Amino acid sequence: MQYRIVPVTPFRQNCSLLWCPDSGRAAVVDPGGDLDRILAAADDAGVEIERILLTHGHVDHAGGAGELADRLAVPIEGPHVEDQFLLDRMAKQAERTGLAGARPVSPDRWLSEGDQVGFGEVSLSVLHCPGHTPGHLVFHHAPSKLAVVGDVLFRGSVGRCDGPKGDHMELINSIRGKLWPLGDDTAFIPGHGDMSTFAFERAANAFVSDFVEY
Ligand SMILES: [Zn+2]
Ligand SMILES: [Zn+2]
Repeated sequence: MQYRIVPVTPFRQNCSLLWCPDSGRAAVVDPGGDLDRILAAADDAGVEIERILLTHGHVDHAGGAGELADRLAVPIEGPHVEDQFLLDRMAKQAERTGLAGARPVSPDRWLSEGDQVGFGEVSLSVLHCPGHTPGHLVFHHAPSKLAVVGDVLFRGSVGRCDGPKGDHMELINSIRGKLWPLGDDTAFIPGHGDMSTFAFERAANAFVSDFVEY
């Protein structure tokens, strides 16, 4: 699998374009906005977007999904149904954050722990990692040792849990119970900021390293 990160919206949200090098079939994870930049990246890579994947229901991640799905006539998969309340409140979220053009989103398929999503020859595993939001998902590609983690984990930080239905302990348990078992040598694309590895975070992350006790 190959990938490119396209930061979108004033929040510099890491939308990622993932594709199968054999077939040129691609998926877009978290098209929060700036759709022209996402489409330009796909053009530039010479790949065809065949589906949209969502990690969670926050506007900077999901606000452009409805329009992109319409423009390309492709399905939206994810997040977990527990985030439906956020997708339904997209207009409110957009108003609060000043992101214009966000639309309510109705996924074609809700995803759950253990599901697989695919494009071309690539298959990603779905992990349900609640805490930042109750329906947050992580997409994992074992052969590449790569995870797309949205706002669960960042380089040196973790997702905020002060939003509706956020839960800090649940988030820590998601990271330690679901992400660390994928392996220390796993690299991850966070929802914001630079990429990192689980090994680095287990050693150095002030919120969730192996030295932090709860
Ligand atoms: Zn978020
Ligand atoms: Zn975010």
